[in-house]
Amino acid sequence: MTPRLPPLSGTDRDPVKFWVLVMFFGAGVGLAALGLLLPGGPGARPDLGRALMLGNGIGSLGALALLWRARRRPPLRRFDLPLLLLAQVCTLGGVLGETFLFGSQFSSMTQLWVTVFAAGFLPRRLVWAQQLLGLASVTLMVWVRTRYGLNPPHLWVVEVIVTALPVLLTGVAVAYFRGVAEQEAWALEQAGRTDPLTGLGNRRALFETFGARQSGAAGRTGLVMLDIDHFKDVNDRYGHAEGDRVIRVLADVMREHAVPGDLLTRHGGEEFVWVTAASGEEALLARVNALREAFAQRVEVLGVTVSAGVAVTARPLADPAALLPDLLRRADAALYGAKAAGRDQARLAS
Ligand code: GH3
Ligand code: MG
Ligand code: MG
Repeated sequence: MTPRLPPLSGTDRDPVKFWVLVMFFGAGVGLAALGLLLPGGPGARPDLGRALMLGNGIGSLGALALLWRARRRPPLRRFDLPLLLLAQVCTLGGVLGETFLFGSQFSSMTQLWVTVFAAGFLPRRLVWAQQLLGLASVTLMVWVRTRYGLNPPHLWVVEVIVTALPVLLTGVAVAYFRGVAEQEAWALEQAGRTDPLTGLGNRRALFETFGARQSGAAGRTGLVMLDIDHFKDVNDRYGHAEGDRVIRVLADVMREHAVPGDLLTRHGGEEFVWVTAASGEEALLARVNALREAFAQRVEVLGVTVSAGVAVTARPLADPAALLPDLLRRADAALYGAKAAGRDQARLAS
């Protein structure tokens, strides 16, 4: 029962997203300024072209202003949709502006910026929506060039395919790469919280997921600390490999006695922690003793037993950071009492 983490929120990549967008929209402003500063071209509708260029420049500046605002009040994802729409509209405005003003369409590759932004940083449903928008945008660009461009394509459908395909496939490649990178990050995070010998959570998992696990649980919370008795003797007598097997047996028995929502961790060596929702101290003590008996039966031939300290709290979950150390301290003290009283028993914390 390794604690599962929520999927990556994307907030950690916000600085990358921010600077990529600053670069794209900043370059958009630069290209619009260039189009407006160049001497009038041979395009079919220069005034319309200039107006579209100006619109592209103003829209890109607006996006930059939005970005600065989002930086001061994160997360950036609140502005995903407006930024995507602005990027798409500005791109289209710039490309059509060039077509009407100069008759050319060199800037059509700026459509790639919108695609890379969506595929690299936006939620999956927006990625697919943007792919459709991108296709529609390229189709419109090519269609406008057939009517107002200096070099109208002979087969405009073929030109749409030739222009749209690299854009769409770039989006697919970026989204695929991003998906794999996110899966790898997720697997690394999970591995960093998993005990390799038993597959249970480790100490880090206990501290990092205790609050999250608890927050939905009603009633009391119990923390049980389990420690195998005279484990050093097991290693000395039967060897380290057999000691490892005994540790795994206890982990298996813990899994069998846990209920959904419990947190099971290996705290270190032959010491384990079990966090579970508890109705009361005596009821939990009975569950712990059932677990202990099941373990002792499973390793009966070795004569190994386990002791436990049990702490229960009814305190509110508002401050898990303070609650957990206190529970651990109490459970540890109870465990110490169980050891001192002869081992092979569970004790309630005072
Ligand atoms: P007590 O009843 O007081 O708990 O005595 P103990 O012998 O169980 O406790 P002690 O702390 O003296 O010894 C724990 C031993 O656990 C020492 C260490 O070599 C062994 N150990 C720690 N981690 C592992 C492990 O991953 N595998 C094996 N096989 N042994 C381990
Ligand atoms: Mg021990
Ligand atoms: Mg120990």
